[in-house]
Amino acid sequence: MGRYDRQLLELTEEEQNRISGSSAGIAGCGGLGTTVATALASAGVSGFVLMDPDIPDETNLNRQFAYCEEVLSGNPRPKAVILADWIKKINPSAEVRCYVEKFSTETSHLFGGCTVMIDCLDSIRDRLELNRYCVSAMKPLVHGSINGFDGEIMTVIPGTTPCLSCVLENVPDSGSTPASLSPVVMAVASMEAAEALKIITGRGKASGFVSYDFLNCRCVPVNFERRSDCPVCGRLK
Ligand SMILES: [Zn+2]
Repeated sequence: MGRYDRQLLELTEEEQNRISGSSAGIAGCGGLGTTVATALASAGVSGFVLMDPDIPDETNLNRQFAYCEEVLSGNPRPKAVILADWIKKINPSAEVRCYVEKFSTETSHLFGGCTVMIDCLDSIRDRLELNRYCVSAMKPLVHGSINGFDGEIMTVIPGTTPCLSCVLENVPDSGSTPASLSPVVMAVASMEAAEALKIITGRGKASGFVSYDFLNCRCVPVNFERRSDCPVCGRLK
């Protein structure tokens, strides 16, 4: 019996080896990042780069389940450090680098060796910064975000699909804290992790921009084209 027997009913040995040899960059270790890290470590991803500047508190615990024990102990370490230990509990052979930093042009190079980047950030400004880095490094990026019962995901393959800037460049940052319901956060994060596994294994079709309305059971794909005047990806062939 092997740890990955059940997923090998779907995946080939070669695809599983690709998963084991891959490295995921997780920008943001909040609700999305917690579930993305858990799902990818469980699937056998063995390289991780985590980045988040924050220390968890009690308001995080309705969806950031990896931090419960330390927050309740009263003296929690930074999220990126706790999540690194959490990943190693799931997958002891994982190599995890963690940075207690905010994602920015100064820190983006720390994701240099990653196979795929996952957007688990919480502001449009930071997401667009991550998108600029991924397009310039020609790295695939999976975007996800939530607010209340609404969620959205989109995969960016630089040079092939629209980038986040093609889609979100003119969307203003609300500046307000998004409402976070754990099932919605975990569902969107799980979809991000599934997109990452598709990129790593080369399976399926990258998700275009899809908006999910959990309250009314609606899933709305929105067709965006690559913008030739996009300041980020417009010059790519
Ligand atoms: Zn673009």
